[in-house]
Amino acid sequence: MDILLIGAPGAGKGTQAEKLSQPFALRHVSSGDLFREAFEKHTELGAKAQSYVDLGELVPDEMTIPLVIRHIEALGGMQGVVLDGFPRTLAQAQALDTEFMRVKRQVDLAIYLKVSRGELVQRLSGRLFCNAYQHVYHTTFCPPRVADCCDLDGSSLYQRPDDTGEAVRRRQVIFFTQTIQILDYYRKQGKLIELDGNQRIEQVYMMLLSTLNAFREGKLGSKGSHITMLP
Ligand code: ADP
Repeated sequence: MDILLIGAPGAGKGTQAEKLSQPFALRHVSSGDLFREAFEKHTELGAKAQSYVDLGELVPDEMTIPLVIRHIEALGGMQGVVLDGFPRTLAQAQALDTEFMRVKRQVDLAIYLKVSRGELVQRLSGRLFCNAYQHVYHTTFCPPRVADCCDLDGSSLYQRPDDTGEAVRRRQVIFFTQTIQILDYYRKQGKLIELDGNQRIEQVYMMLLSTLNAFREGKLGSKGSHITMLP
């Protein structure tokens, strides 16, 4: 099974992708994490991409597409993937289809986690990550048990530089003007599912579990259906 999670910054893609990867044996592939790894390793691509990421802009397709596609290739075809943050442009969506077609796979489901703008702003403004594994916390909604310390691995917490200031606003604008257009691409292929991402993490996770289980059992409508699962 190869799944996409689409959503605005703060919609919960990373959190849900991580949770889903275990029961369905999927590899979680986050384009944002691939860029952050490239920064840490001081690669040439990392240096070029950083200025875009810091400003909240999309990294150009010429850099993003090869980075993500090569990563998927390197994982091999044994496991499916849950993609988080890729594709964000039509060119990326087409490149992904081409790559999957080459290895006789396909995007099975594109799941849009729809969250209201007010909720997104609240979530991003208090979001913290752990230094070791990028586990996600929130100062109000999901605080760590010990301040500034990851519950799971004890590493210290940090706020992403692009979660503050103008970059936050820019990322939202880009999502709602550009990335939102890829919903149509998947809607036309009958692969788009829309879930209400405003709810709590566990509730969204339960909806995702039942969607993926229904897909696996062949109970989701096939071609041409646009299934909206709003409560
Ligand atoms: P979020 O979904 O919260 O914005 P990500 O960690 O997915 O965060 O992405 C962080 C940044 O990395 C984006 O703002 C953008 O600069 C860059 N990025 C990630 N994925 C892509 C992509 N598919 N295309 C272009 N740029 C990307």
